[in-house]
Amino acid sequence: MEIIEDVAQMQQRCLEARQKGLRIAFVPTMGYLHEGHLSLVRAARAEGDIVVLSIFVNPTQFGAGEDFDSYPRDLSRDAEMARTAGANWLFAPRAKDMYPAGYASWVDVEGLTDTLCGASRPGHFRGVTTVVCKLFNIVQPHVAFFGSKDFQQLAVIRRMSVDLNLPLEVRGMPIVREPDGLAMSSRNVNLSPAERGQALCLYEAIGIATALVRAGERDSRTVIEAVRRRIEQEPEAAIDYVQICHAQTLADCHALDRHAVLLLAVRVGTTRLIDNHHLGEEIPES
Ligand code: AMP
Repeated sequence: MEIIEDVAQMQQRCLEARQKGLRIAFVPTMGYLHEGHLSLVRAARAEGDIVVLSIFVNPTQFGAGEDFDSYPRDLSRDAEMARTAGANWLFAPRAKDMYPAGYASWVDVEGLTDTLCGASRPGHFRGVTTVVCKLFNIVQPHVAFFGSKDFQQLAVIRRMSVDLNLPLEVRGMPIVREPDGLAMSSRNVNLSPAERGQALCLYEAIGIATALVRAGERDSRTVIEAVRRRIEQEPEAAIDYVQICHAQTLADCHALDRHAVLLLAVRVGTTRLIDNHHLGEEIPES
């Protein structure tokens, strides 16, 4: 595996690969890799001739007072994990090359970004779509892999790719969890042991919601209330949002149907965690 930092060199290498008829599979990340990221690399490995993994802690998607500075970083650890999982090229650009002096262009997806994380993190998705669009232009992938842990991000990137006629396929992959159910996240290392225990309330709340829907509950408010009650039992947990939304439009679902997704954002101590579950899958087809 080769580590490439230079933007122009990465773009040139990818162009040459495409010209040789090679299929490029791409996994964009912010690094501090875990099994969730590696599941995407393995899926990319199964589909591409060349697997490109990018690691870039993108400053423009962090708001003032968010955890850009404390976001975990360890490139040599990541490189070893990426190599073992089957990446060919690790693209680790420098911020000053991604956003040089005079940088002035932004990609903004409207509507889908107004709710959920978009509402609690103003400007976040503008940073995400801008950097992902730039990475797509540099890497020129045939297919790009994203985790459905970041459910809204995946919906926004799909929307951007369709709207801007980007010539690639966006592929969503399942959430990878720790053995006890906590969704894997680079931010989990920032949890103290006590917070790590309390962080399990997200998964347990999802379990409560799932059981209610399986038992026939179809009123979103009742399910949301049960989820909130479980999370509020934890002294260090502060709910950012608990919503049930339509999987494609992200509009609030009042009556639960096959499209319903439960989405959670909870601060545990100072660490913001997100999780989701497609509750609609628990509803039998009528
Ligand atoms: P990040 O490094 O957090 O920006 O994530 C990079 C990619 O990995 C995104 O597509 C995430 O959705 C995905 N990802 C992060 N955590 C998980 C997880 N637990 N399971 C599956 N995919 C994940």
